[in-house]
Amino acid sequence: MNILPLIRLLRKVKIGLLSTKAWASAPAIFIFPWLITTAISGGCRNAPGAAMKPAVQSSLTSSQNAPPSAAISHPLFDADKSYSELKKQCEFGPRPLGSPSHEKLRDYLIEQMKLFADQTVTQVSTYRSMKVTNIIGLFTPEGAKLPVKNPILLLAHWDTRPVADGPNSTELENGDEFVYGPHGWNRTTPIMGANDGASGVAVLLEMARILKEKKPPVPVLILLDDGEDYGDFRANGGEGEGVELGSRYFAKHPDNTTLYGRPIFGVLLDIIGAKHMIIPREIFSHQYAPGTNEKVFGIAHELGFDNVFRFNELQQVGDDHIALNKGGIPTIDLIHPLPFAPYQTTGYTYWHTMEDTADKCAGTSLKVVGDTLLELLFRETPIH
Ligand SMILES: [Zn+2]
Repeated sequence: MNILPLIRLLRKVKIGLLSTKAWASAPAIFIFPWLITTAISGGCRNAPGAAMKPAVQSSLTSSQNAPPSAAISHPLFDADKSYSELKKQCEFGPRPLGSPSHEKLRDYLIEQMKLFADQTVTQVSTYRSMKVTNIIGLFTPEGAKLPVKNPILLLAHWDTRPVADGPNSTELENGDEFVYGPHGWNRTTPIMGANDGASGVAVLLEMARILKEKKPPVPVLILLDDGEDYGDFRANGGEGEGVELGSRYFAKHPDNTTLYGRPIFGVLLDIIGAKHMIIPREIFSHQYAPGTNEKVFGIAHELGFDNVFRFNELQQVGDDHIALNKGGIPTIDLIHPLPFAPYQTTGYTYWHTMEDTADKCAGTSLKVVGDTLLELLFRETPIH
């Protein structure tokens, strides 16, 4: 994820907040809580949990706004188990692309995925002679024939930032110069990435365990993607250099296998483990996957998670979902805001600092997200 200066942010508002052009050229984070009544022309009149003002018109059809069907019962998401998976990743140390701990974690995650998934595949690409590995688990419904069609994609990045360059970090000034290389750009300050990296993976591993126990009604792909947080987000006019590597690769090769077809939609988890987590609705997500966003926030509302899932607050973030949306897989991003206005204090203040450690996270937060996504999956209607 990245930030752009406020001036650029304001320019974007002027040129049309939700145009593809605007974000395609400049993936970054922006936060616009005040735009709720002006910018979201595709707002959601009937979305559960969304107390939208009547003046905001919906561009969705009534069938898209239909409430979800009754849930199939499923095993419960275990907060402690998920939090253990977060801590386990941290025990490997910082895991930036190209580091030995990165390789060790990759092997561990592949091993874990093989324990739970019906099929496990890896996608390996190369960046500056470093291996970038996407780890993909397929979970099929009972009696499904391969290749399964239209899987639901859940994803989170498993690598961590090689440098502490968040707004609250002093490490960058004190550290080495930016140097690309097999050990990341700053060897002195790789962050732990307990929340930024490990939290999303921790939720998905616990979900994988549950999906092994109880098969989902529809096919599910869990993608642990690599190389999200390696390089320079501001390079190439905001396009980035050495960032979102795994998601960009997957977006180009979403079905290069005999096991599954192209995902029908996706949900990205990033920075979803903080003790005082909040998840405002993300603007690009709502532009490209409004139905999914409404469903997810609606379910969270039904489950009593309005304090976390804030449909009426908006943020705008450049993240792994950008490549997927560009590639035609409508994908939402569930993410705690970064610590920029107006979230300087309620955003994740440890973002890209040496303080992004496991003690800042809580299993209860992971469970809020896990419970919501399990409901999402088990409310899906099988297509025969
Ligand atoms: Zn990050």
